[in-house]
Amino acid sequence: MDQPAPDSSHGALDDVRTRIANAAALAKRDPSEIELVAISKTQPSERVVPLIEAGHRVFGENRVQEAQGKWPELLERHADLSLHLVGQLQSNKAEDALALFDCIHSLDRPSLLKALAKAMDKAGRQVPCFVQVNIGGEDQKGGCAIADVPALLEQARGANVPLIGLMCVPPFGVEPAPFFALLAKIAADNGLEKLSMGMSGDYETAVMLGATHVRVGSALFGERR
Ligand SMILES: *Cc1c(COP(=O)(O)O)cnc(C)c1O
Repeated sequence: MDQPAPDSSHGALDDVRTRIANAAALAKRDPSEIELVAISKTQPSERVVPLIEAGHRVFGENRVQEAQGKWPELLERHADLSLHLVGQLQSNKAEDALALFDCIHSLDRPSLLKALAKAMDKAGRQVPCFVQVNIGGEDQKGGCAIADVPALLEQARGANVPLIGLMCVPPFGVEPAPFFALLAKIAADNGLEKLSMGMSGDYETAVMLGATHVRVGSALFGERR
């Protein structure tokens, strides 16, 4: 929930929010259904604080270790922040991830599912997860193969891991819309409601195709160094 302090504004944040609202309107969607996850990887706290002060509350990181260095202090000052993990996760970091993150977008294999299930049991805390799908069938890319999605979902239900939807990063440099549409279809076929898709270059397209979570970094923070 956004609660901007009086006299707070952030040009890039306002622009991204407006674009999300416009894309939602074109698709006859309610913009409040769309969560903007501000991806702050590589950005120092000084770049993150202005967004928090402008009322933004949902952030994402792609590495556990980097997040451990940056976020505990910010979370102490702002208890209502929500932190999402959007990058690949090693099974031996599952406990660390659960201690810090409120949502995991990168569950992509049975071994990680097992590690997360165990860590959730131990912590007594269920953290919602997305299954990341290798939507373009790319060799080098993370994500569960499309053919393996139903089995992983089945296994998650058995392990009592809360799966809320599917996530993807489409192949670089080609039109992303067909991949977003395919992810939406796979989610619908499997009874999942949430779709984590769309980054700085393509989040408006993703919103028009049903994204419920867009992961936007450089459009909010500027280019990463
Ligand atoms: C870095 C990253 C983003 C944000 O990318 P931008 O192009 O800067 O918006 C989104 N999702 C994942 C998984 C990322 O690693």
